[in-house]
Amino acid sequence: MFPDEGARRERMVGGQIAGRGVHEPRVLAALRKIPREAFVPDPLKNVAYEDEPLPIGEGQTISQPYIVGFMTEALALKGGERVLEIGTGSGYQTAVLAELAGEVFTVEIVESLSLGARGTLSTLGYANIRFRTGNGAEGWAEFGPYDAIMVTAAPVLIPPALRDQLKVGGRMIIPVGSGGQTLILVRRGEEGFEERDLLAVRFVPLVNERRM
Ligand code: SAH
Repeated sequence: MFPDEGARRERMVGGQIAGRGVHEPRVLAALRKIPREAFVPDPLKNVAYEDEPLPIGEGQTISQPYIVGFMTEALALKGGERVLEIGTGSGYQTAVLAELAGEVFTVEIVESLSLGARGTLSTLGYANIRFRTGNGAEGWAEFGPYDAIMVTAAPVLIPPALRDQLKVGGRMIIPVGSGGQTLILVRRGEEGFEERDLLAVRFVPLVNERRM
């Protein structure tokens, strides 16, 4: 459809992502490989590689490429992990995780978005992803605990179920706050949880945070 997709991806990775300090080679390779235009609505395919979030319907957005790179790098995936993602949205971030980990379990509260992402990701050939429509504040206990958890909608407080479903030694990256939000890296050690503030961000709110 766009013969210069490869070149656009290369520009996106070089200029917006590596250029701003995301250096993990496996993350950059995944971002170079995945056709981001497959995850945005038709009228926006020509701007799929721009440095901004884009609307994907239902009032939701596909995250800015730099943020996808930054959050993915923070999980420090080595390959083979079991990863939980909350907020499937377009499925773009899901594809990045599926490239880097063993299995991805992704939860989305809006059914039409979950079904759309499922279609896109199966067309692209991903077979290591399980989808669920439901409230991500509950996590997905059936397949936990997880080596890593990625949350792409912002709760006011970290949902307790997500902490519970993180393995000892595991990492979670999550935007937290109302209005102004901070991206927090949570590490679970033998002794408990350690949290580090990484970056000021703006995500859509995690809805139904408290209805658990
Ligand atoms: N990672 C996505 C970003 C989507 S925006 C992408 O790159 O496309 C955040 C998504 O979180 C939206 O699709 C929204 O519907 C979803 N969401 C909001 N609250 C949720 C909840 N409680 N449980 C699961 N998904 C939720």
